Amino acid sequence: AGPSRKRIMVLMSDTGGGHRASAEALVAAFHEAYPDRVSTWVVDLFTDIAGPPFGRLPSQYAFLAARPPLWRAVWEYGRFPPTRAATEAFTTAVSGGAVTDAIRAYAPDLILSVHPLCQTLVLHALERLEPRRRRGRLPRPPFVTVVTDLGGAHPTWFDPAVDRLFVPSDAVAAIAARCGVSAVKTRQLGLPVRSPFWGPPAANGGPAAGPAVDGAPAAAPGAGVSALGAGVGGGTTANGNGTTVAPPRPPVRRAVSDTYYALDGPGKQSAQPLLASPAKRVTRLALGLHPDVPTVLVVGGGDGVGGLAAIVPALTAALGASSAAAATDGAAPVAQVLVVCGKNEAVRRRVAAAPAVPRVSLTVTGFVTNMADWMGAADCLVTKAGPGTIAEALICGLPMVLSAYLPGQEAPNVPFVVEGGVGVYRRRPREIAAIVAGWFADPTKLECMSARALALGRANASRDIARSIGEMIPW
Ligand code: UDP
Repeated sequence: AGPSRKRIMVLMSDTGGGHRASAEALVAAFHEAYPDRVSTWVVDLFTDIAGPPFGRLPSQYAFLAARPPLWRAVWEYGRFPPTRAATEAFTTAVSGGAVTDAIRAYAPDLILSVHPLCQTLVLHALERLEPRRRRGRLPRPPFVTVVTDLGGAHPTWFDPAVDRLFVPSDAVAAIAARCGVSAVKTRQLGLPVRSPFWGPPAANGGPAAGPAVDGAPAAAPGAGVSALGAGVGGGTTANGNGTTVAPPRPPVRRAVSDTYYALDGPGKQSAQPLLASPAKRVTRLALGLHPDVPTVLVVGGGDGVGGLAAIVPALTAALGASSAAAATDGAAPVAQVLVVCGKNEAVRRRVAAAPAVPRVSLTVTGFVTNMADWMGAADCLVTKAGPGTIAEALICGLPMVLSAYLPGQEAPNVPFVVEGGVGVYRRRPREIAAIVAGWFADPTKLECMSARALALGRANASRDIARSIGEMIPW
C-alpha cells in the first residue's frame, strides 16, 4: 500500500462463511470504486486481535451451529439486556486494550464491521482513544456497520454510536430503529455478495449497471464466469442510491406459511420440459456436468450443516422415481443433484457414500470457491436459511427449499423467502425431495418463481454500499 492510500479496517470473525464472504465482497467493491486509493485489512477481531479467551470463537460457533438448541440458548443469552451488558463489560475489560492497540497501530481512516459482535468493543476502544484525538495525535475514524443478516438481526449488531449503518431489508431497518440507531444514519442497499454475483460494471463511474440479460431467468450471474469467462448476466431491479430509511416500516409478523399457493408440490404439469439457457449449459459443461438435465444444488453454508446427509438420499430416490424417469426410456440421467458440503469433511464423506440411484447423477464436493458457478448451473436450491446463500440464490434466480435454520439468527429468513414467493420451508427430507420433484415436473412454476427471485436479488449491493462508505472517507 502506498502512503497516500486510505486505510480501511474490516472487522469480522469466521463464524460461518457469510461474514468473510461479505467482507471480501466489500473489499473488492472498494478496490473497484477507488483503484489504488485504498488499502484494506480484513481481520478476525477475536482470533487475530482480542486473543484468549475469545480466540476460539470460530470453532465454538461451528460446534454450536451443529447443535441448534444450544445455539438458541446462546442467542437468547446475548439478547437479554443484563447478560448482554455483563458480557460486553467483561469483553471490554479483557480485550479492550488489545483493540485500542490495534487501532493505534493500523491508524485506519475508516473502520467497518460486518459482524454482530464487532460493534461495542470497538466503539469503546474509540472512546478510549478520544483524548489522543483531541490532542490532535489521531483522528477519530468513522465507524460503519454493514448488517449481513437478512430477514432479522440480533440486537448486538446495533449501537447508536455507529456513524453509518447498512441494512438489507425493511425488517432489519425496523430492528435498528428499535435499538436506537437514527434513521438518518441508516441506508438500505441490500446484502453485499461477492463479485462473481455482480452485474457488469457501470461505464464512467456512475451507478452500477443492472443486468445485461434480457430478463431470462435462467441466465444467472456466474454462468460460466470463472470457468470460461462467458457472459455475466443476472437480474436485479433495484440499484438503491443511498436512500435514507425514514421511518422504517415494522416487519410483517406472520406465521411461517406451509401453504404458499403456487410453490407447493406437484401442480398441473406443463407440457414443456425444463430447458437450460445457453449460459447455464456452458456453466454445466465447464463443471463437468450434464448440460441438459434438471439440476438441484444442495448446500449447508460454509460449515455444511442443515442435514445434508439425510436430504441427499431422499432427493436422489424421489428424482429417480419421478414420473419423468418412468416416462422416458434409456439410461440417460433424468436429474442431477449437486452437493456442496463446505468445510464439513465428515458430511462430504457420508454424502459421497450414499447408494447410487439409477438415472440420477450425484456430484459431491467439499468447500468451493466458485459458488456463483455452482448456482449458475442449478435450476433450484436446497439450503439452510443462511443469509449469504439466500441473497446469492436470489441474484441467480434460484427458487429454494429451506431445510433448516439456526434458531433466532436465521429464523426470520424463512418468512423472508416464503412470503417473498421464492421458496418453501420443509424440514423432513422426504418432503423436501417431493417439492423438488414437483418443481422439476412443472417448469412453468419453477420459471415463475425464478423470475420473482431475480426481482428480489440485489446484484449491485456491494458496489452501492462501497460507494456510500467512500463518501465518509476524508480523501
Ligand atoms: N460458501 C462458499 N463455498 C462453500 C460453501 C459456502 O463459498 O463451499 C459461501 C456461500 O456462497 C455463502 C457463504 O459461504 O456466501 C455462506 O453464508 P451463509 O450466510 O449462507 O451461511 P453461514 O455459513 O454464514 O452460516
